[in-house]
Amino acid sequence: MKNWAGNLEYASSEVRQPSSVEELADIVAGARRVKALGSRHSFNRVGDTDGVHVLLDGLPREIELDPERRTVRVSGGVSYGTLCRSLEQSGVAIHNLASLPHISVAGAVQTGTHGSGVDNQSLAGAVEAIHLVRPSGEQASLSRADGDEFLAGVVGLGALGIITGLELSVGPSFRMRQRVLENLPWDRALANFPEIVSSAYSVSLFTDYAGGSISQVWLKALDSEPPLGKLFGATAARTPRHPLPDMSAENCTLQMDEPGQWLDRLPHFRHEFTPSKGEELQSEFILPLEHAPAAIEAVRGLAPKLAPLLFVSEIRTGAADEFWLSPFYRQQSVALHFTWKPLQPEVEAVLPELEEVLRPFGTRPHWGKLFSPAGHDWESLYPRFADFRSLASAHDPDGKFRNALLDSILGVPAASRR
Ligand SMILES: Cc1cc2nc3c(=O)[nH]c(=O)nc-3n(C[C@H](O)[C@H](O)[C@H](O)COP(=O)(O)OP(=O)(O)OC[C@H]3O[C@@H](n4cnc5c(N)ncnc54)[C@H](O)[C@@H]3O)c2cc1C
Repeated sequence: MKNWAGNLEYASSEVRQPSSVEELADIVAGARRVKALGSRHSFNRVGDTDGVHVLLDGLPREIELDPERRTVRVSGGVSYGTLCRSLEQSGVAIHNLASLPHISVAGAVQTGTHGSGVDNQSLAGAVEAIHLVRPSGEQASLSRADGDEFLAGVVGLGALGIITGLELSVGPSFRMRQRVLENLPWDRALANFPEIVSSAYSVSLFTDYAGGSISQVWLKALDSEPPLGKLFGATAARTPRHPLPDMSAENCTLQMDEPGQWLDRLPHFRHEFTPSKGEELQSEFILPLEHAPAAIEAVRGLAPKLAPLLFVSEIRTGAADEFWLSPFYRQQSVALHFTWKPLQPEVEAVLPELEEVLRPFGTRPHWGKLFSPAGHDWESLYPRFADFRSLASAHDPDGKFRNALLDSILGVPAASRR
């Protein structure tokens, strides 16, 4: 089994597709090592195991709205695309979406996946409860009322349990318009950064860091927000755009200010089409919003090395949250995302240098993308990191849900060292 990008083959010796939560619990209880996979859109080995991989798409599929609590209960393996169609039929919405809707809800939430918007929390921000299977096979539920265990478990890297279902908060469905502006001069972008990224509900800047301007600014505005024709020298594109200049916009969600429902505007790519470029790699680095101009300037200094490896880079934002291992933990943030060409050795060679220039800004890497695990002081980046490690070791002393990447981040649990 390979991941979506095809850059890694998983090491599992067995793949199981349980048809009930009880069967899943038995598999987990009996396995030496086990890990769930979602839609396999991660670019690193965060979801790998040398034991059993479980795929949750055989479990009964549940999407059940609770109109009184304003929540939806959804099975972990369901994709956001499927969930959102169902929510829209009931006239409700979730607050934000990632760039593509094909990813599974549990897999996305576990790695802190996010969209954009200064006031929009990551997808984990909607989570009110999780239902999971512990290493012993015991089933457990954690909700906001459970405090620390919940805050540790939502963005949990699959280290605290296999999530069979989640409860997400929903609000009324809403309409949006999307517009792409072009050629935002760098000097004006950096001088007016907070204003630019706050100019619509969700704003993304696309660039390769070279040249004198940012090539595209994607504005996703609520129907109630005024249209934006110009922004600090950037002007509206005359035809629909793909973030990559040589690609047709056919696969992209509708632009040109055409109104539509939230689920058809928030992602960049349409659910019914194959997403993005196919063969690509990604990295993303998240840091406090106030450092954005200085951090971006530092990255621009590496443009001659980065640009030849890049399809494109996306700059977006996110609101603070309370999840212990969320890259947005307690800080409103800017996220510098890199869509690389499929040149893994070259990308891995440049990453330490990129991470080095971003280190002074307290930069946290995206858990599902490429980064150098050894290049980060996790305890200083994540104030509750030691607590997470203790909790993970207490629940999983034998390291059943661990793999080499998680061990390199969290350390090897004491019992599994023997
Ligand atoms: C084209 C593309 C676009 C992307 N766009 C964005 C974006 O806009 N924003 C962003 O932040 N990220 C983005 N990503 C990254 C992606 O959202 C994350 O890698 C996410 O984790 C993928 O979800 P998945 O279901 O594929 O998870 P997987 O890659 O299958 O698994 C990820 C992790 O979650 C764990 N996991 C999966 N299911 C469960 C479960 N049921 N219980 C417990 N643990 C589980 C796995 O063990 C693993 O540790 C993108 C990736 C691609 C390929």
